[in-house]
Amino acid sequence: MTEAWRPEDDETSRRGATGPVKVHVPAKINLHLGVGPLRADGYHELNTVYHAISIQDELTARRGDTLTLTMEGEGTGVLALDETNLVIRAARALAAYAGVPAHARLHLRKQIPLAGGLAGGSADAAAALVACDALWGTGLTRDELATVAAGLGSDVPFLVFGGTALGTGRGEAVSPVLVRPTTWHWTVAIADAGLATPSVYAELDRLRDAGAAPTPMGSPDRLLGALRQRDPAVLGAALGNDLEPAAVSLRPELARVLAAGRSAGALASIVSGSGPTCVFLASDAGHADRMARDLTAADVCRLVRTAHGPVAGARVG
Ligand code: ATP
Repeated sequence: MTEAWRPEDDETSRRGATGPVKVHVPAKINLHLGVGPLRADGYHELNTVYHAISIQDELTARRGDTLTLTMEGEGTGVLALDETNLVIRAARALAAYAGVPAHARLHLRKQIPLAGGLAGGSADAAAALVACDALWGTGLTRDELATVAAGLGSDVPFLVFGGTALGTGRGEAVSPVLVRPTTWHWTVAIADAGLATPSVYAELDRLRDAGAAPTPMGSPDRLLGALRQRDPAVLGAALGNDLEPAAVSLRPELARVLAAGRSAGALASIVSGSGPTCVFLASDAGHADRMARDLTAADVCRLVRTAHGPVAGARVG
C-alpha cells in the first residue's frame, strides 16, 4: 500500500537524510574512444561512446561534524584519503555550489581498480555528489549534478547518468545514446598495476609525431549503427580505442592479454580507456563465464571478472 503524502515529507527531504545514504556507482568502458588533436588547453578533443558496466563501488554517507573519508577494498593503503581524493573534492564542490557546510562521514567500498582505465576515481566523485546531495537535502537535478561533476573531471558527468552515452569535448559533454535496450556481456581482465592516464595520452602524441600510430578513428557513427543492430558479433567488429596502441607501447604485455582473450573466443578484445584493464565482448552471460575461466587459467592478469552493461549511473540504494 502506498502511504499518504504528508507536508512534513517534503520538509524532511529538504533537510536531508538522518540515517546513512548508500550509493552504488558503476565503472565505465569506452565502446569507441576516438582521440582527436591536442587542444590549446592541454586536453585532446574526444569522440567517445561511454558504457557503464556492473563492476561497482559503494559509497556510504553519514551525518558528521566535519568531512572525513575511510575506505576498504581496491587501493586501500595506497589511495590518499585527504583533500586530493576525488570523493572529498566532490563533496566540497557540491557544498560550495549549494551553499551548505561540507559535513559528512564518508566510507568507500572499492571494487574498481585504481588507474585501471575504468574511471574508478571519477565514479567515486559521482557517487559522492549523489550521496551528499541526498544526505544534505540539497535536491539538485541530475543536470545540476552533472554541471558540478564537469568541474571535477572529464568522465564524472557520464557516471552521474550511466547507461550508454556519447561524450564529446574532453568527454564531459554527455548525451544519451537512444537505442532499444540490449544487455551486453563482458569479461574483464584487471592488471597488477595501473597506468597513469596522462602518460598514455603523451605516448599517443609521441607515436603520432613519429608516424607510428594508426589513423585516428574520428566519428563513432559505425559503433552507433552497430549498437542499433543488437548483434554482439556486429558490435564486436565496431569496437575501437585510439589509445590502445599507446597503452600497449607502455605496457607490452597487454598484447598477450588481448591475444589470450581472442584465444578464449572473445568477439572482440580491447583495452579499456587508457588501460591497462582489457575487456572482452561475449555473446551471452555463459560465454562471458567460460572466457573468464579460460583467462584465469591463462594467468595473464591479476584478476578476471565478468560484467554486463549498460547499467545506471550513481544511484541511492
Ligand atoms: P580514467 O579511466 O578516468 O582515466 P582510471 O580508471 O585510469 O581513470 P582512476 O582510478 O579513476 O584511474 O584514478 C586515477 C588517479 O586519480 C589515481 O591514481 C589517484 O591518484 C586519483 N584519485 C583520486 N581519488 C581517487 C579515488 N577515489 N579513486 C581512485 N583514484 C583516485
